[in-house]
Amino acid sequence: MSKIVSAIASLAILAACGQSAPPAQPADGSDATAPASEAAGQVLNVYSARHYDSDKVLYAKFEEETGIKVNVRESGAPELLETMKAEGADSPADVIIVSDAGALYRFQLEGFTQAVKSDVLEAAIPAQLREADGHWFGLAKRARVIVYDPQLLPAEEVDTYADLAEDRLKGELCVRSSTNIYNLSLLSEMIGRNGSEAAEAWAKGVASNFARPPEGGDTAQIEAVAAGQCAAAIVNHYYWLRLATGTTEERLTAAKTSVSFPDQDTTGTHINVTGAAVSSTSKSPELAVQFIEFLTTPEGQALLTSETKEFPVVAGAAAPEGIDLLPAFKQSDYPLTELGAKQAEAQAIFDRAGWN
Ligand code: FE
Repeated sequence: MSKIVSAIASLAILAACGQSAPPAQPADGSDATAPASEAAGQVLNVYSARHYDSDKVLYAKFEEETGIKVNVRESGAPELLETMKAEGADSPADVIIVSDAGALYRFQLEGFTQAVKSDVLEAAIPAQLREADGHWFGLAKRARVIVYDPQLLPAEEVDTYADLAEDRLKGELCVRSSTNIYNLSLLSEMIGRNGSEAAEAWAKGVASNFARPPEGGDTAQIEAVAAGQCAAAIVNHYYWLRLATGTTEERLTAAKTSVSFPDQDTTGTHINVTGAAVSSTSKSPELAVQFIEFLTTPEGQALLTSETKEFPVVAGAAAPEGIDLLPAFKQSDYPLTELGAKQAEAQAIFDRAGWN
């Protein structure tokens, strides 16, 4: 504030002396105080791969509570990564928000994240869900589940990921492309837990059970099960939950299917996160951390998950509406930081398995 006051004071002096004053308004006609406030670093640039109205509310709440202006660039994670590569060290990004630990890893690998230390984040977020040195932090959780037609399959035939590779499911499975990060991360955990050979045998078994070549997103897989095109599919839980809490038509689609959380008797269901990182190019890393900390408050957690139907990561945070349609489940304790480094091998395995 003192900078603004002294700027105004010097303008007044210049005017009083009859000297030509510099323009009082920026060329774009915005508030004259804005550049001073920006110079003070009170602007945060968020690069986000999310695209939800609830996020706009989230940014507005943060602005309201802190006075820090939030500029948002929304795009897919691969596009954001390409943008940052083009911008290089000059990238204005302060915070990067993308889904899947595998995607967060890609930003880290390219040098676009920085290690930050925050006692708040370390206390709020389980170690499994964040990068050990603070390169990224999981903020909302998702489970990769099996959606199936209970008229065609008994629950016990789809209660493990291994079931999906069994011969009895020949011609019964719908999946999305292996290039999708969700499937790469799922297979990465299998590589880490069971070894490359077992992971490849599984991928080949699943590929030999396809009802159709991989196509469409997760929602399309659920719709295909509901339409009788396949008996089971692999999807993230929130796609089902959105349908189950959606329009009448969407609810009817979800009602034709059941959800299985695999591996409840053993390692637990594969989970992943939407997470945030402080950009290595940020000129205001402390503001970036402040923003990420805000995302772990009860308000931040609720806004992050209310529309997406992900699970909060902070213990005690309110779960999104409709969550009671899903059972409590055992989640895998596999560290998410391990997933990214296995992506390339996972993709090679999928390619050999014919899972395109
Ligand atoms: Fe998704």
